[in-house]
Amino acid sequence: MAKEWAKSFYKSRAWRQLRAEILRRDMFTCEECGARATEVHHEIELTPGNIDDPAIALNPKLLHSLCHDCHTAITQGNSDCAEGYFFNADGQLTPRGG
Ligand SMILES: [Zn+2]
Repeated sequence: MAKEWAKSFYKSRAWRQLRAEILRRDMFTCEECGARATEVHHEIELTPGNIDDPAIALNPKLLHSLCHDCHTAITQGNSDCAEGYFFNADGQLTPRGG
């Protein structure tokens, strides 16, 4: 579900290695619910402006292991969205359940 501009980042060796490292660091356990973590969440949401900044995109302190469900919930619940809206895979503000 990566955005177009993020695809090369998510395919990069640096990200793949770091992602595996974060999951190991967190013992493959979801920080939110304790289920098996399969995804790594960026605490600071990546944008075209910060994705090339390793202090944000590749900073272990800003990365959290999550299960798919919690990751989806957190990503869709971004506080910069108006109530009842979420950003869809294309980055468009979309009404929930609509
Ligand atoms: Zn979870």
